[in-house]
Amino acid sequence: MADTITPVCRSENMRRIRSKNMTPELEVRRLLFRMGYRYRLHARLLPGHPDIIFQKHKPAIFVHGCFWHQHGAPNCKITRLPKSRLDYWLPKLERNKQRDLESIAFLKHMGWKVCVIWECETKSPSTIKRKLNYFLKSVCETI
Ligand SMILES: [Zn+2]
Repeated sequence: MADTITPVCRSENMRRIRSKNMTPELEVRRLLFRMGYRYRLHARLLPGHPDIIFQKHKPAIFVHGCFWHQHGAPNCKITRLPKSRLDYWLPKLERNKQRDLESIAFLKHMGWKVCVIWECETKSPSTIKRKLNYFLKSVCETI
């Protein structure tokens, strides 16, 4: 059967999904700021463009949308595969996952410490606060 969504509509849909994914990142940024951390945003020159970085001790934080980055946790309620056009989506999502792994490996090789915060985790501020605290403290202690 022919696909009824035109390319224009599809990119419009994707833009909407993407902008919705901005919210978890804002949540993490707000939380870090309240915890007293001052960070830099969108390190465009680094592999994978981490969302949040710190100059000192080189921690890098990614805030990943569970769908786009295919969160693999069994309790994640957001990741699911689309119901149609799997021939299009599966390789695309697989590439995203592969790219994430490569970026993280590359960053670690460059001396960065990497933490991934998942969209579903941002539903519980106390959980991410614990995770961020643990990560940032452990990074500072390893120096
Ligand atoms: Zn998730």
